Amino acid sequence: MNLVELVLFAALSAALLTLGYFLSLKYGAAGWLVGVVPVGAAWAWFIFGAFRATFTEIRHSLNRRPVCRQGNCRSKDYVMIKATREKAVFRCRCGDLYASKDNRFSRILQDGSLVPYMLQDASRHWKADTTT
Ligand SMILES: [Zn+2]
Repeated sequence: MNLVELVLFAALSAALLTLGYFLSLKYGAAGWLVGVVPVGAAWAWFIFGAFRATFTEIRHSLNRRPVCRQGNCRSKDYVMIKATREKAVFRCRCGDLYASKDNRFSRILQDGSLVPYMLQDASRHWKADTTT
């Protein structure tokens, strides 16, 4: 959710609560439900989404990363650019972009294509990914 969506979301919440307020004057507590139920559900969904995104980031950042292709950066020197459920994108200090997915660490080229780089074996050691 970006800032514009957040503002619209807050405005919509206020509008629904205002509507609930006016309905409550006429229908009592039942009128409130018109405003409170959708707003409550939307905020619960929003908080759940934020929580899940944070959890995804933590999970990805706990995974160790191999030394970068230039040999300059270690696991801690990478900065996470974005993370989804299945993969995370990292930038190392040299400026190269990498995608981390499952036990694979791939380089992202300028055109967005992936080049296999490293593979993590069962004992969590990195080795060159020779698959194509
Ligand atoms: Zn690097």
